[in-house]
Amino acid sequence: MTDLVLFWHRRDLRTIDNVGLSAARQRTPQVVGVFCLDPHILEKDDVAPARVAYLLGSLQELQASYAQVGSQLLILQGDPLQRIPALAQALQARAVYLNRDVEPYGRQRDRAMQAALGAMGIEIQGYWDQLLHAPGQVVTGTGQPYTVYTPFWRNWRNQTKAEPIAPLHDAIGLTGEQQAISQSMGVIPLPSLTDLGFSWEHPLLLAPGTQAAQEQLDQFCAQAIDTYDEQRNFPAIDGTSRLSAALKFGTIGIRTVWAASETADAHSRSDETRQNIQTWQQELAWREFYQQAMFHFPELAEGSYRKPFKQFPWQNNDTHFQAWCDGRTGYPIVDAAMRQLNTIGWMHNRCRMIVASFLTKDLIIDWQWGEKYFMQKLMDGDLSANNGGWQWSASSGMDPKPLRIFNPASQAQKFDPEGEYIRAWLPELRRLDTEALLTGKISPAERQSCNYPLPIVDHKQQQSRFKALYQQQKDQQQKDQQQKEAVHE
Ligand SMILES: Cc1cc2nc3c(=O)[nH]c(=O)nc-3n(C[C@H](O)[C@H](O)[C@H](O)COP(=O)(O)OP(=O)(O)OC[C@H]3O[C@@H](n4cnc5c(N)ncnc54)[C@H](O)[C@@H]3O)c2cc1C
Repeated sequence: MTDLVLFWHRRDLRTIDNVGLSAARQRTPQVVGVFCLDPHILEKDDVAPARVAYLLGSLQELQASYAQVGSQLLILQGDPLQRIPALAQALQARAVYLNRDVEPYGRQRDRAMQAALGAMGIEIQGYWDQLLHAPGQVVTGTGQPYTVYTPFWRNWRNQTKAEPIAPLHDAIGLTGEQQAISQSMGVIPLPSLTDLGFSWEHPLLLAPGTQAAQEQLDQFCAQAIDTYDEQRNFPAIDGTSRLSAALKFGTIGIRTVWAASETADAHSRSDETRQNIQTWQQELAWREFYQQAMFHFPELAEGSYRKPFKQFPWQNNDTHFQAWCDGRTGYPIVDAAMRQLNTIGWMHNRCRMIVASFLTKDLIIDWQWGEKYFMQKLMDGDLSANNGGWQWSASSGMDPKPLRIFNPASQAQKFDPEGEYIRAWLPELRRLDTEALLTGKISPAERQSCNYPLPIVDHKQQQSRFKALYQQQKDQQQKDQQQKEAVHE
């Protein structure tokens, strides 16, 4: 056996502030990175080209980072459960190190990997890296995981946060002989997006890699964080960090992100600024809340959490769904948001909530259809955050508020008061007056002349219909419960 340790990267595409990688380097100087392009992930029908473009760009930068410190990042393609143990065995690696994940697929894969490596006598070491607090660290007084955000946040914010971890400064890569072996074990050059069967033409909202993420963080924390609370809900304003893809793929470490927000807090001159910064920190806590929820309640990935939604009579009209996907519902704020998503692979958070409410409460379409469509388009598509956002919007999730229905017109009036966002994404409506854009009160003749559709449903009618269906489900559930109790008496 050699002194080689393989570090298996997944959602931690960086050599800076990386818990598992740093532990590997403390163990031995010969640390070599591995990334496996996994068909279980890349060949699913919910993969967004923008996300793969970001991934490949980040891997390219990661290869350069390894080369700079004297080592390599090896690329494999295929089932990691076969590829990685075979490579580790051929190279006589002492151990495989990795950072752990919260998602059901990743957890099951890692358990299988532990068994496969164990059978070969190769050690495996896992660490928590992608969260400030690992699942199980922030729990209720009785040791249970939180299912409500606010008490989670109160506890989470009071826990001490770790400092960023030192970067990988130097390492020893594979010898010439080991390189030849690795090639015979299926190590390949990094493929292009086209090689993987995807195409993406639009510039990415955030350039791939650690350097771009760090610059974006610095810029955000130098300015926009101070007014985040006031600006974050206006989709026409660049008022949020746009770090979601970096956080999803771990091109930046969460400890680095937290430390930057704390530095901004330390330099802030007013309580008002501090409040803005805290609001942003609360978003980081939402990210952790949904990840710990996915870890403790993996059934969230399969369907609705709350009972009235488990067998909800969704209407699932295909034509309506297609109109929603294409941004052709006849509701300007909804259509503008969907066009933003379709064009740049990202959508502003306020608009994610508006279109999700519209799909579930106005079109009465199963939130899982929307969840999947988002995954097919989002550059930051992430199971925990996306599922959490959709279940929150559908009212099917952990959030205790029973029903939340957004009125598209009042949302537009409040958060896009000049109609700038709508005009940016619906060029065919640009010349209309702002009042018409916001309220959607556009005559059929005007709609026809702009080649813009009539509203596909009536908001008020659908709102009543949805409420009635919800009530029916609740009543049914109560009846079932009473019957069950009667049987037991
Ligand atoms: C229906 C729906 C689907 C969503 N799908 C995703 C998704 O697939 N991936 C994703 O990262 N976010 C998702 N979100 C959350 C949120 O919309 C995005 O994280 C945010 O818009 C990204 O922009 P930003 O980086 O500028 O965020 P900022 O406002 O700057 O927030 C900072 C970071 O906090 C995290 N964050 C912020 N809000 C949330 C939230 N509500 N839930 C979880 N994490 C949050 C993100 O990592 C984000 O980058 C979804 C929200 C909804 C309502």
